Amino acid sequence: MVKLMIVLLYLSKKGFDAVIDYLDSQYLKKELPANVRDVYNEEEYEKWIAYEREGGKFETISDIVEITFNLFLLVSNAYAWVFNRFAGMNVFAKYLALVVVFSLASSIIGIPFDYYDTFVLEEKYGLNTSTRKTFWLDAVKNLGIGVALAYIVVVVIMVLFDLFGNAAILLCSLVMMGFITLLALVIVPLMRIFNKFQPLEDGELKDSLLTLCDKNGIRVRKIVVRDASRRTTTANAFCAGFGSMKTISLDDNLLNEYSTEEITAVFAHEFGHAKYHHTAKSLPFTIINLLIIFSSLAIVLNIPQLYTAFGFDGMNYYFGTALLGVILWPVTTVLEAVSNRMSRGHEYQADAFAAKSGYGQALIAALKKLTKESLSDINPHPAEVALHYSHPTLSQRISAIEKIDSEMSANIPANQEQHTEKQEKEGEKE
Ligand SMILES: [Zn+2]
Repeated sequence: MVKLMIVLLYLSKKGFDAVIDYLDSQYLKKELPANVRDVYNEEEYEKWIAYEREGGKFETISDIVEITFNLFLLVSNAYAWVFNRFAGMNVFAKYLALVVVFSLASSIIGIPFDYYDTFVLEEKYGLNTSTRKTFWLDAVKNLGIGVALAYIVVVVIMVLFDLFGNAAILLCSLVMMGFITLLALVIVPLMRIFNKFQPLEDGELKDSLLTLCDKNGIRVRKIVVRDASRRTTTANAFCAGFGSMKTISLDDNLLNEYSTEEITAVFAHEFGHAKYHHTAKSLPFTIINLLIIFSSLAIVLNIPQLYTAFGFDGMNYYFGTALLGVILWPVTTVLEAVSNRMSRGHEYQADAFAAKSGYGQALIAALKKLTKESLSDINPHPAEVALHYSHPTLSQRISAIEKIDSEMSANIPANQEQHTEKQEKEGEKE
């Protein structure tokens, strides 16, 4: 009975995801919003539609395989069977074995799909620049990092719940919070596992970025260029670190394809996040999120039937966290939607900041290029956006930026000289 309920819960989650995917795929046929019709020309538009369709089919197949595999694991009591193979070992070794076996199994199931995605699908649409060697090295590194993170989480949960009972809800939340903060601090060193970072060469772009930092009172530790072109044609940029000491990272793909003004516009957006303290503002929500998750985990850990139904002698921390993901899905779906809603609000603010700094049009140009080069979806279903989009759609962002631009030009008479004068005055203030 318990087993059947868990299986049904799992299937309901996957069913829900499938409905959203279906709605989203149907939306592809809809007419594009007017302000993004120029992103793809006719030929590129056809290419994008074909890519979306083919990608959708591919995802359906990989989902079916994943669901079948997970159902098999649940129904066959595989978790307990594996755990019991290591019965003689000490508890830490037993959990490590469990994490390694199931991480490895899910990698083995997932890798053929990743391989097809990279070397067949992305290759066909000109998005892939990765080599086989990079691919396999990445797969090994990802597995290693995945095992390490999963094991740390399970050990923290086990030790704290064993020692402190329900007080562990608060302690686990705090430890995870610390862990998330630490990860954010070491993100660049961590990314060095996958990428090389070179200092940005002196020149027009560096000057432009440093001027922008100065204007916004942001102190930069270093500006680095990431070798993203080793894997893909798409580009990204980010601003890492806390307080005033930031590391700015931009992908080499940006350097090759984007103008200085466009790249500066992207960073004006990033600085908007810093200026409005978006990281700090999302902290209370993250804490609430963690408290909800660990309170639920405390409940799940205290229902022995959940474990005996799957062949365990009693409660198991690893299986408990796996079950939590299944049982809590309606709640986590809502939490994720709330978090994405908040994030989209922050993105609008960051865009507005860039627009008010005079980079509205350059940002629009950069966003259009970014979209085009990754063949991104420019017409997603509103339900897909509400649930999964941390950024507003391209069309929504352009509308919002245009609105600010027109408000600004309504306040200042549209006149080139005035514009230059204003910039000079701003320069003097600094
Ligand atoms: Zn942003």
